Amino acid sequence: MTLQVPYVGYLSLGDDPHLVANECETCGALFFDRRNACASCGGRNFASRRLANSGVLRAFTIVHRASPGVAVPYVSGIVDLDGGGVVKANVVGVDPEPSSLTLGMRLQLTTFAVGTDAEGTEAIAFGYQPA
Ligand SMILES: [Zn+2]
Repeated sequence: MTLQVPYVGYLSLGDDPHLVANECETCGALFFDRRNACASCGGRNFASRRLANSGVLRAFTIVHRASPGVAVPYVSGIVDLDGGGVVKANVVGVDPEPSSLTLGMRLQLTTFAVGTDAEGTEAIAFGYQPA
């Protein structure tokens, strides 16, 4: 079996890939990655919370210029996850054309390999595809 590592720390892999946020124990605000304090209320205690793999497209842009080696065009979206949480991620599995996307369309988390090191370990990223 190929060893896999998540591209970002808040992506949990395994049989059921999903995102994990840090939830402020005082006000419920959600953040990715570690925080010293809540940007909403200043609270300092957080608990891990699994986020839904489904949501809706809030906003998107089609990117036509990127760093060397990054294929363009691609769709960068803002996704409102069911049950809470907002994440910026690429929308995949659609033509990168405005006519292919609709605000509010249902999306589902997907994962894919973005690179492999010399030992065969795969880096796994996530995006959202039409549900
Ligand atoms: Zn808070």
